[in-house]
Amino acid sequence: MLTKRPRGTSDILPGEVEKWQFIEKTMQDICREYNFKEIRTPIFEHTELFVRGVGEDTDVVDKEMYTFMDRGERSITLRPEGTAPVVRAYLENQMHTGPQPVKLYYTGPMFRYDRPQAGRYRQFHQLGVEVFGSQHPGVDAEVMAMAMNFFHRLGLKKMDLHINSVGCPRCRPRIRETLQNFFRPRLDELCPNCRGRFERNPLRIIDCKNDTCREVGKDAPTTLDCLCSECRKHFNEVCDYLQLLNVPYNVDNKLVRGLDYYTHTAFEIMAPDIGAQSSVGGGGRYNGLVEACGGPSLPGIGYALGIERIILAMEKQGVQVSSPPGPDVFVAVLDPQVKTKAFEILFGLRAKGIAVDQDYQNRSLKAQMKYASKTGARYTLFVGGDELQRGSAILREMATGNQEEVPLEKATEHIKQRLGE
Ligand code: AMP
Repeated sequence: MLTKRPRGTSDILPGEVEKWQFIEKTMQDICREYNFKEIRTPIFEHTELFVRGVGEDTDVVDKEMYTFMDRGERSITLRPEGTAPVVRAYLENQMHTGPQPVKLYYTGPMFRYDRPQAGRYRQFHQLGVEVFGSQHPGVDAEVMAMAMNFFHRLGLKKMDLHINSVGCPRCRPRIRETLQNFFRPRLDELCPNCRGRFERNPLRIIDCKNDTCREVGKDAPTTLDCLCSECRKHFNEVCDYLQLLNVPYNVDNKLVRGLDYYTHTAFEIMAPDIGAQSSVGGGGRYNGLVEACGGPSLPGIGYALGIERIILAMEKQGVQVSSPPGPDVFVAVLDPQVKTKAFEILFGLRAKGIAVDQDYQNRSLKAQMKYASKTGARYTLFVGGDELQRGSAILREMATGNQEEVPLEKATEHIKQRLGE
């Protein structure tokens, strides 16, 4: 029986992979313009990194990690997200001791044991950026502007940026108390998780996906009502910078990243037309995370975007990505005796940077022609005994059927000239 791929994973086939290449290339271009450098971290890490860096009380750590003991009895986890590994690499490689801010980006597969559905998979792919070492509100605006700019560059027009501030350790006690006062009378209506959160971190109740918790929390006081003067100032400055950069945004006071080390700005980018999983990306400031991961107290901010959901949005918004071109030239042999010579010619053309293919199935000439047009080749070079004696071959333009005899010694030049036309 055929072994199938595991549930929640995908094969990205030719025809589809061009979308991925376009997205990745666009990200590289944008990151160069904004002076972000690429970082590549391992696919797996020590489990404790995520427990500390994502948080024990989160669904990701609690229920969704691919964790196993390796043969040396170490607990290993396939990375469920990219921020904690990048923080670890930043510290482990002493990047925090050099000039700040350090601006990094990454792309790659992430793994979460989630219930698969449209837009939700067990292996999915993220593009993300992180900026370490700056508190400046202009950096918050820069990363959001960058993400929106990236979407526009992809051809996505309908993307909404939602922002909020979740405060800092100074305003947290007030946020906590205000929320506890609000939820206390209806505590028994909350889900068991949220009843636990009530003491530990009531901000996370607002983030709960349970319908009853949402209903109970719908008129809850917001973090914006409780901000300290410094957080309020930071938030206003971020908004001012976004206006300065002409980046439209909505303030969504229900948006939270309910972990202690998330501070100030939280944001999410939605594609309104891709169904239930409409969040294409999210991020925020995490001024406590570097310290939580064992480093000094240094600020940070970042975001992660999901490539699968970007593709869903591109499909919904009618963004076309051109399919891969076929070879420039298909080498067809007119009689079997010249096969070796044709092979030589083919490799000679490739060595000069021309994309060439040929038949390997001993097809008849007619079948070679059929196959050549299937590959999408722009030209066919017919190699035959008579022409070889004259030191030449026949070049046919597939679209028009026009043919000409070209001397082999000038074939490369000639073909390059034709391809450039
Ligand atoms: P998060 O790391 O949970 O903040 O998610 C950031 C982005 O990653 C989301 O907005 C999605 O685009 C994407 N994402 C998260 N989880 C999944 C998943 N299970 N399947 C596909 N995409 C996901």
